[in-house]
Amino acid sequence: MTTARPEITSVLKNRFGFDRFLPLQEEIVSNVLAGNDSLVLMPTGGGKSLCYQLPALCQDGYTMVVSPLIALMKDQVDGLQANGIPAAFVNSTLTPQENEGVLTSAAQGEVKILYVAPERLATPRFRNFMESAGPSLIAIDEAHCISEWGHDFRPDYRNLKNVRDLLPGVPVIALTATATERVRGDIASQLRIESGKSFVSSFNRPNLSYTVKPKLRSFGSLVELVDRHKDESAIIYCFSRKETEALAADLVSVGISAAPYHAGLDNPVRRATQDKFIKDEISVIVATIAFGMGIDKPDVRLVVHYNLPKTVEAYYQETGRAGRDGLPSECVLFYTFGDKVKQDFFINQIEDLDERNHAAEKLAKMVDYCELRSCRRQFMLNYFGEEWVPESGGDDCGGCDVCLAVKEEFDATEIAQKILSAIIRTGERFGIKYVADVLRGSNAKRIRELQHDQLTVHGIASESSDSELREMFGLLQDEGLVAVSLGEYHTVSVTAAGRALLTERTTLKLARMPQSAEVPSSREPRDGSRSKNLEYDRELFALLRGLRKQIAQERNVPAFVIFGDVSLREMAYYFPNDHDLFGTITGVGTAKLDQFADRFISLISEYCEEHDLSPRPKVGGRLRKPGKKRARSALSRSLTETKRLFAEGFSVDEISSERGFGAQTILSHLEKIGRADADFNLEPLLPSPERITAIESVLRSNENGYLAPIKEELGDDYSYEEIRIVRLQMEREIEGPE
Ligand code: ADP
Ligand code: ZN
Repeated sequence: MTTARPEITSVLKNRFGFDRFLPLQEEIVSNVLAGNDSLVLMPTGGGKSLCYQLPALCQDGYTMVVSPLIALMKDQVDGLQANGIPAAFVNSTLTPQENEGVLTSAAQGEVKILYVAPERLATPRFRNFMESAGPSLIAIDEAHCISEWGHDFRPDYRNLKNVRDLLPGVPVIALTATATERVRGDIASQLRIESGKSFVSSFNRPNLSYTVKPKLRSFGSLVELVDRHKDESAIIYCFSRKETEALAADLVSVGISAAPYHAGLDNPVRRATQDKFIKDEISVIVATIAFGMGIDKPDVRLVVHYNLPKTVEAYYQETGRAGRDGLPSECVLFYTFGDKVKQDFFINQIEDLDERNHAAEKLAKMVDYCELRSCRRQFMLNYFGEEWVPESGGDDCGGCDVCLAVKEEFDATEIAQKILSAIIRTGERFGIKYVADVLRGSNAKRIRELQHDQLTVHGIASESSDSELREMFGLLQDEGLVAVSLGEYHTVSVTAAGRALLTERTTLKLARMPQSAEVPSSREPRDGSRSKNLEYDRELFALLRGLRKQIAQERNVPAFVIFGDVSLREMAYYFPNDHDLFGTITGVGTAKLDQFADRFISLISEYCEEHDLSPRPKVGGRLRKPGKKRARSALSRSLTETKRLFAEGFSVDEISSERGFGAQTILSHLEKIGRADADFNLEPLLPSPERITAIESVLRSNENGYLAPIKEELGDDYSYEEIRIVRLQMEREIEGPE
């Protein structure tokens, strides 16, 4: 076999539009191209597909991709075709004739990547096909499905063993985002992949931020969250079907485009909802966990858990659906201890004792996560056995509420003494909940029976809330003043250090998160999120999204198949206005350059013309960030023309009809000129002195810079243009001549 192997990095750029590999991709691609088997363990969004798609293009013949997710095959194939890669699938959604047609073209070398569902592997027709026209590489997606130990065992995956016998010598690459040791071993042994060829990456998702919020007035804070992600995709997970419907209806009633999704809905309804979500026609899906398997939307920016998940595994997996494209995305969990009690009720109904204990332990871990006072990211990764530490070397991941919070120090002496005494007085035989109830003065039957309502500590912390006390127990545990037993009952006791504190009456200062302050929801993550947080132009981005949607509708494919958000954000930052510059944008390979560049470039150029922006070249594919000043310093030809006409005494309306731009555009030109040129006379543009006074006074009381609230306060009688010109005049007066 003669194999021409073009430089893989040029294939990376020309076909996929990427400048560089993500971690491990290059090693894996080389290993595959060397004819070896590979086992790839990477989190969702890690970039697994490229590991077989790129080698497929560097080899003769076709690559066969086995995947259980039939619903996703079409999107995957559409995505490859948009990149000019001949791809196809055979599965039950096609007619037998159509499937046959695909196999024929594959046999004739017209397909480079062929997706197939595992059940098909056992059919005589397909075996026959593999024997006569076998693939040069076999990729096994969702490889954990082969293992009974995994969460998603598919008996059909066992067919793969026969395929290996049928096609000896054809290399295999197995990929999964499930990383338990046991499943990993099982995949390798069943597929006979040598252990030396495993590639395991960190399961950290650096672009995701993690937050836990108290479930208190939660609807308001949910709306706030969703509003913050306006026009972006979000998934909200609920406990029950009824709840998803109620919550979706509530969201719709406040003007949010949301729909419920659960297993109880009719198939067509479910499919329609899913389709609208994929096509950006619905932004928010309120779902039970049934939602997810059939979804591969790369630009979900927010995943909310409105109820407590049952396990950390489930939580990691569900939040994993956020930000697959590597852009910053948020994961928020609303927590109340009451939800744990609710879950306990269900757990107690599990008949098998081992199973019940197992479920209770898993839930306890999830509660630990919610009540953490240390890094949530670290907790989660350690839970999965990864010894992860933040890149900074310290203990700040820069992307969870605990790490981002500015902690406040407070005097905990009194409350600590109360808690420690209560633990001792009740005999160190009870759990946190019981001791907290005693402290709060509960009259529960058990407390009365044990005569703990007679103790002096009964009710001495009645002013503290249950969650405050739980937090205090946690802090005291962190300080090593109390200990919680590991057994079934989790009884609390006071340590020697705790007793010393009580007898010596020393003051105790502790640090905790401020009670009410909002945690900044994101900060640039410390360790390299894939794309930098570009200060892109939001207005242009919105226009680009519109164009993307239009093209997607013309072709009847999901919007992300045309371009991902990463590409659009770069366009709205670098303003590429010719083919060369457009080609430097991430995600633009030669096929997309040919198909889409013209339409996007003309939108970008028009916008730049109107707003006097010039392209910022992205040299060498590196993200370069020239200062805004430079882009603005010299007036563009267009602005110079407006300036000239204005200086000659033409009015805004006259210039507007002369130049063929709207009056607003001309005004914004003049505003720009006024900013760039301190000598430019704004006088003719200013409204009457009374109006100036009115506008100035509102401007002064709203200093955050947003115009909408100012306009609202002034009323319809005032225009945005007037306000902007007065604002500019004020700024000039404050700054003075430079
Ligand atoms: P996984 O299958 O591991 O969940 P995907 O293969 O879907 O991940 O890739 C996740 C995202 O990363 C996709 O949006 C993909 O376009 C992008 N991606 C993959 N490789 C690269 C790369 N080398 N550079 C930039 N983006 C990449
Ligand atoms: Zn953290």
